[in-house]
Amino acid sequence: MPTNPRTSNGHARRENRRWLASLGLECAICGKPIDYSLPAGDPYAFEMDECVPVSKFWLRLYNEQQQCWCGPYDSAKQAALSRENMRATHRHCNRERSNNVDVPKDPSVQIFRSQEW
Ligand SMILES: [Zn+2]
Repeated sequence: MPTNPRTSNGHARRENRRWLASLGLECAICGKPIDYSLPAGDPYAFEMDECVPVSKFWLRLYNEQQQCWCGPYDSAKQAALSRENMRATHRHCNRERSNNVDVPKDPSVQIFRSQEW
């Protein structure tokens, strides 16, 4: 099996995942709340996603969820482990997005939803 930068640093990834989950963010892709108690296999479960894909670590993109710029990175490993590059998503949203890079939007037009739903 080829080395996967997402899993070759399992411990650091788990730490980052726990940190991201603790923020309780809404899905970076659809903007809806994430139920962090769902099991990992559930389509609506929390999944950690990279803003700059590890396969395109040389990109510089705006992470709307954390409201910071991320990238470019020196390596796929660095992209996979950098917290500012992390985004919380639903599992199914992340799957549908695949490896397409989002078109960066103007960060000044953020819409903040209430937490009620
Ligand atoms: Zn979603």
